[in-house]
Amino acid sequence: MKKLKFIHSLKFRLFLIIALVGILPNFALRFGILATYESRAVSNRSIDILSQAKILANQVVTYNYMSDLSMEIINAQLDQVTNIYDGRVMVINSRFQIVKDTYGIDTGKTIISEEVVKSFQGEEISKYDSDSRYIELAVPLKNVDTQESLGVMLVSVSTDSIMMNYDYLKKNVQIIEMVNAVIVIAFALFCARRLVRPFKKMTKSLEEIQAENEEEELMISDYTETEAISDAFNEMLGRMRGIDDSRQEFVSNVSHELKTPLTSMKVLADSLLGQEDVPVELYKDFMGDIAEEIERENKIINDLLSLVKMDKAAGELNISVVNVNELLEMIMKRLRPIAEKQNVELVLESFRPVSAEVDEVKLSLAFNNLVENAIKYNKKDGWVHVSLNADHKYFFVRVEDSGIGIPEEALEHVYERFFRADKSHSREIGGTGLGLAITRNAVLMHRGAIKAHSKEGEGTVFTVRIPLNYIGGIA
Ligand code: ADP
Repeated sequence: MKKLKFIHSLKFRLFLIIALVGILPNFALRFGILATYESRAVSNRSIDILSQAKILANQVVTYNYMSDLSMEIINAQLDQVTNIYDGRVMVINSRFQIVKDTYGIDTGKTIISEEVVKSFQGEEISKYDSDSRYIELAVPLKNVDTQESLGVMLVSVSTDSIMMNYDYLKKNVQIIEMVNAVIVIAFALFCARRLVRPFKKMTKSLEEIQAENEEEELMISDYTETEAISDAFNEMLGRMRGIDDSRQEFVSNVSHELKTPLTSMKVLADSLLGQEDVPVELYKDFMGDIAEEIERENKIINDLLSLVKMDKAAGELNISVVNVNELLEMIMKRLRPIAEKQNVELVLESFRPVSAEVDEVKLSLAFNNLVENAIKYNKKDGWVHVSLNADHKYFFVRVEDSGIGIPEEALEHVYERFFRADKSHSREIGGTGLGLAITRNAVLMHRGAIKAHSKEGEGTVFTVRIPLNYIGGIA
């Protein structure tokens, strides 16, 4: 299995592509060149011999060689052609009898081959036999004046010299081809290695980042592609580091928040235990304080549990069609006693009846936190206005107060867990710093949006927008 793995590597594929592109065309070239050479050489030779044969045939007819075979002038020429072209010439008369054979073997014999017959009828015939390596030509012997066929001249020449050249050429081309193949393979190896080097670098860099776990970043800028991968990876790494940091911060915040009431309780209990003959009133007083701290601890744990629940997937939403007017009225009713205690006027204004597909429990917790904050962080004799409106897609809840406001630099942090704009005041009035984190999570789970505007000393407005119809899927 491991052996086959390299086949799937980029390096091997690059090597293969470069090697094939470099070597394959050579084969095609070799076949092309050799085939062209052979046909060109044979055709040139044929044309040459044909013109020689025609001249000879003309002389044979003109000198009436057939009637006097001992004619010196013609015999000399026949021998010359035979020697130069390493061939054989036969003169055949009208009775298909070989009257002259330069080889001297077949003189007197009769020959009735297809070529001879055709040529006797006036055709010039040229044939190449590549297996036996010879060219055969048949030229008619014709009386120019009477057009009478007197016979045929048959010339056959060997193409050994052409084939010798052909073999020589082939050998040379093969050597060039082999040298080229070696160069191409070396080049392909070199290129493949070089081209995948950035990826090796990337793996090494990633391993280093993983091992050292420092604030290092990945940057392989050799190719646009590796740069894009590096960028995407760094973004992901940044996000993961952010998540890790916020998780650590959250854990340390939780521990701290949970410890604070416990420390108070311990101090209270210790001071009671350390004294002799403590008056009952002091006991009661301290016990009351301890009960308050327990209540606080309880609240923090409850809020934390709500947050953890919200952090789970959006699929956990328990969607039903809810009358939002009624939901807000319920919240107002529940919070009115706290408002009255602070002499804060609480008003709900509904512009239209609104029914929406929402998770009633989670959303009521979200609005509850907003209205509760508006009351908690208010002034004496202040007011809180809650309004509900809707268009065809969303409904809007606006919670406005005449309270202390949120400083501008704190406004962007109010949704963070355990964030308190005014620490001492918030703790004093029993805030956990988790309320707005819960609210924001609930709103986002519904694919909604939350915005805050505030002016220190004048008041705060929170606006929430939630789709009327729940859009499922990944949040
Ligand atoms: P807490 O439990 O402390 O109220 P929240 O998450 O609900 O926590 O709010 C975070 C902080 O934002 C609060 O401590 C407070 O300082 C500030 N805050 C929230 N709502 C208001 C408001 N309506 N007016 C002024 N300050 C507010």
